[in-house]
Amino acid sequence: MFIGAHMSGPISSVPFRTVQIGGNTFQIFSHSPRMWRTSLNEMKVKKFKEGMDKYKLDPTKVLIHASYLINLASPKEDVWEKSKVLLKSELEISHELNLKYVNVHPGSRLDSPAEVALERVGRAIYEILKDSPKDVMLVLENVSPKGGNIGYNFHQLKTIADISGCNVKFTYDTCHGFDGGYDIRTRDGMKELLSEIDDTIGMDKLIMCHLNDSKYPLGFHKDRHERIGKGYIGKDGFTNFFSYDEIRCIPMILETPGGEIEHEEDILTVKKILSFLGLE
Ligand SMILES: [Zn+2]
Ligand SMILES: [Zn+2]
Repeated sequence: MFIGAHMSGPISSVPFRTVQIGGNTFQIFSHSPRMWRTSLNEMKVKKFKEGMDKYKLDPTKVLIHASYLINLASPKEDVWEKSKVLLKSELEISHELNLKYVNVHPGSRLDSPAEVALERVGRAIYEILKDSPKDVMLVLENVSPKGGNIGYNFHQLKTIADISGCNVKFTYDTCHGFDGGYDIRTRDGMKELLSEIDDTIGMDKLIMCHLNDSKYPLGFHKDRHERIGKGYIGKDGFTNFFSYDEIRCIPMILETPGGEIEHEEDILTVKKILSFLGLE
């Protein structure tokens, strides 16, 4: 199984630190996620690539998480334009780093109707991808149905992809999904989730999973991540989730609270669940 964590700190040492916590993949920000400017330091890029080779990490299992400032759904023209420019530069950074996937939240509709917002995201994606590096793919993440967020179910994500006309891929975030009512703790809940994916984007387009427990109960619209097994999804819930072959083949990225010590423990928790299932 591919598993790792969202890693902060200098990108040059991320490959090394990933292996140290027992991971074999990871997610990073390409620059400070709260800044509109991006920059790449050549030395850091070189060291990052050397680390990927040295620790034999597969770039096709790694994610760049785009900046939180980006709002492709924004009804405000200036924010929408700035968002497209920033996301495009993140795709270029991904290309420089030899990575393949940039994960982005569809955005917030603010006070605009959902249909208008979905249309705007789709159009933005089309405009961004038409002259971006072709070896980098855009990955849309399901978000929590909190505030004006759009893209909290696979029907909306599919609508966005269709409007864009582009070959986008998808990430399933287990905390966001739980927040939106997908109960991965039960057989019925998993059946519902997997058939919705099949009926919309198709399972082959779900290429990443953000593995997070939830601090709040099912359907609470709070978006508060918790460490694996310590929240409302719980160890039994994740045991059910991991019992599906189509789930286990997707790279798992932790976005759980804490630093590398906690991530190492969370990876161990997941490995214990797999061994309980007779799978590791
Ligand atoms: Zn995210
Ligand atoms: Zn996430």
